[in-house]
Amino acid sequence: MKGRQKRSRRERANQAVCLLLLVTVFAGMLFSQERRAQISSVINSNENQENVKGKEKDSSEGQKVAYLTFDDGPSVLTKEYLKILKEEDVHATFFLIGQQVDGELVDVVRQEVDEGHEIGLHTYCHVADKIYCSKESYCEDLEKTKLCLETKIGIQPKLFRFPWGSSNAYVRSYKNRVVEEMEKEGIGYVDWNVSGEDSVGCPSADSILRNVRKDYVKYDDPVILLHDSATCQSTLEALRPLIRELKENGYSFRTLSERENPCHFGEYR
Ligand SMILES: [Zn+2]
Repeated sequence: MKGRQKRSRRERANQAVCLLLLVTVFAGMLFSQERRAQISSVINSNENQENVKGKEKDSSEGQKVAYLTFDDGPSVLTKEYLKILKEEDVHATFFLIGQQVDGELVDVVRQEVDEGHEIGLHTYCHVADKIYCSKESYCEDLEKTKLCLETKIGIQPKLFRFPWGSSNAYVRSYKNRVVEEMEKEGIGYVDWNVSGEDSVGCPSADSILRNVRKDYVKYDDPVILLHDSATCQSTLEALRPLIRELKENGYSFRTLSERENPCHFGEYR
């Protein structure tokens, strides 16, 4: 009897040990499965983040962006330019002539700002013999334009464009000093790498399109010079077909401050 009791206690003890072992092994399996799931979830999550980063990088690298720029406004035609730009959902940059920001055209410039376009400084009077006498005379002319836009529109442009570009014969000898002076105020200059040649002679809409077409294809980030002036009716006619052609060729549109590199003659353009 005693022997059977002993055996049965031993058997129960053995059963308990087996059960304990089974529970331990089972718990271990569960834990390792859960751990593997956790590790795998972290790896997947990291991979997904890398993929997202990769996609962002790829899409920004492959993007083609056109920068439409209009010099010499505001003008009696500006509202018509704005209408087309709004209908096409495109933003542009306008380099303004200070003395024209007057009367009804003040509201037109406000509309440019309100509709998301960028405003840059160009000149106050655009008369070469007045503005380009010296470094001081052009800086004064720009300051006057800056003040005009600050007081009438309440904006502080970050870009300026030399009339006839930064390498014109008038300004060449003191251009760098003008650039330094303006940079102290946080204002950089911009040229262009594509021109519609729309302020020369009496161009047709077709010739403006041809001029732009022959050069924009060379760039993923063309800066296109056009003019917003009362004498540039053909530019207005060319604008919508130009925007549509650029869109068909994969270009989107941004304002100039969003461009990675400033567009300067003689440097990376
Ligand atoms: Zn101009």
